[in-house]
This record gives sequence, C-alpha cells and structure tokens, in this order.
Amino acid sequence: MKVIKDYQNNMQVIKKIDNLRVILGKYRKIGKRIALVPTMGYFHAGHLSLIDAIRKKADIVVLSLFVNPMQFGPGEDLVRYPRDFERDERLARERGADIIFYPEACDMYTELFSTYVVTDQLSEVLCGKSRPVHFKGVTTVVAKLFNIVQPDVAVFGRKDVQQAIIIQRMVADLNFPIEIIVVPIVREPDGLAMSSRNIYLSENERKQAPVIQAALQNALETVKNGETSAEKIRQLVQHKIESAALARIEYIEVIRERDLQPVDRIEPGTFIAVAVWFGKTRLIDNLGLLI
Ligand code: AMP
Repeated sequence: MKVIKDYQNNMQVIKKIDNLRVILGKYRKIGKRIALVPTMGYFHAGHLSLIDAIRKKADIVVLSLFVNPMQFGPGEDLVRYPRDFERDERLARERGADIIFYPEACDMYTELFSTYVVTDQLSEVLCGKSRPVHFKGVTTVVAKLFNIVQPDVAVFGRKDVQQAIIIQRMVADLNFPIEIIVVPIVREPDGLAMSSRNIYLSENERKQAPVIQAALQNALETVKNGETSAEKIRQLVQHKIESAALARIEYIEVIRERDLQPVDRIEPGTFIAVAVWFGKTRLIDNLGLLI
C-alpha cells in the first residue's frame, strides 16, 4: 500500500486526450487496474467518498473533471455552475487520486461532433421529464470517457440514482467491459444530501432544505411500521415537504429500481425519489424503502 504522501507528490493533471491515452497505456501494459471517477468538479465529501470506494478496487485512480455542456438544457445553470479547479486539485491530491483528466470542451466535442448515446425510457422519467436532454448528454459523455480512459471499474453516486441506473443499463446494453460501483449518498450533518449546487441556496432556503431528507426518513419509518401503499407514502412525503414554506415540489415518485416505473405497492427494490426547488435551486434526493 502506498502512503498518501506518495500520491500527493505524484498526482498528474492531464488535459489532452492523447496524452492521457499514452500514460494509461503504459500502466495497462504492466497490468495495473484503472479506475474512473467521472465528476463535474467543485468537490465535496460525496465526491471524495467515490475516490475512497474505488481506491480499494484499482491501482490507478483517474478522476475526470468536466462540466459537460451537453447535459445542460437551455436556460439551465451551465454558465454559473460552480468551479474552483485549484481547490479541486488540492482535494483530489490529498485524497489519493493519481490523475485528474481535465479536458477542454472543444477537445471533447469537435466542430463536427454528431454521435450520441441515448438510453430510451429510463431517461424519459423522473428528472428526464423536466430535463429532456440531460441524460443524453450524460450517457454520451460517460461513453466517451469510458472509451478514452478504458477503465476496469468506474464509480457513481447513489445521490444521482437515475443516472447510476442509466449508466448500468448502458454498460450492459453496449457491452462495455467495465465494473460499475454505486456508492451511498453522503449527507450534511442535518441530512441534506451534499451537492455542488447547495451553494446556490440562500440562508433561509438552506435552513429549510433538510425537510427533504426528513420526509424521506418519515416514509421509511412508515413503511417499516407496515404501510405498503405507494400512494400513501407519496402523500406523506408531499405533506412533509410542503410544510417548508420555500419548497416547490417538482416530483415525488415511488418507483422500482429495475425500470424506474411507479409501483402501487411497496416491495423489495422500491425507492422514493424526489426533485424539489428552493428558489432557483433544484435539489434531488432518494431513499430505498428497505423491507
Ligand atoms: P457531479 O460532480 O455532481 O456530476 O457528481 C459526480 C459524481 O459524484 C456522481 O456520480 C454523483 O452521483 C456523485 N455524487 C454527487 N453528490 C454525491 C453525494 N452527496 N453522495 C454520493 N455521491 C455523490
């Protein structure tokens, strides 16, 4: 096991696809296992937990940092999305990443770019309803990253559960020889799921935002006490979230993991997913209804 200091000295920042390929090719040749952690940067403890989870599974951890324009729709927050490369670089180095891949949009999407990866159905529900181009952008960029890095293993957060399920579907459907790991949601002490977008929240919005997690926990408790009606659980969550004056619900859905379709009865594999606006900030969260 290398000590963290070693990694601190060694982490490389690579911007060019060809350079990354040359470096990773050398590692691959000597039998090193390569891991990929795709991110859009502005790291918090959730991102860092992905590095921890994958560290055990590979010799070389590549963290990609790319605010992918293709996954933002018109009017979304591409321009104001938070960025702080120096801080991200320091955090990744301290946490033991080996390489940050930090490409330019013009290298990822050349002028003639016209090939996309789309996962039907799964990308049309939940967040896909209000963000119709989002998952097409995600699957396309992740497929590109998979081809550029050719990792043995890649890691995604349960925070974006729909994304994780879509990526798993894409990997199975298109036979990418890559193991996908999904890690649990990392939360603030008051229960709010960590997100780069939390910094958009005003002081009052931030105070009220933990109502989301409280509502999901309520739902879980109610299921544990014997409730099996998905609609009753949905309403319970709705009432609780509506108790926060600044919350505006986009969706609350009780769905099954397999195909993200709504269920009538809570059964194993059911989870509840929500998107809630506080002012101009859209927050998502989810919780498995373990029974
Ligand atoms: P992002 O930079 O927001 O695109 O996120 C990069 C990766 O980190 C994705 O796989 C996310 O699901 C994951 N992630 C973001 N926030 C969290 C969190 N609070 N807990 C666990 N994983 C997260």
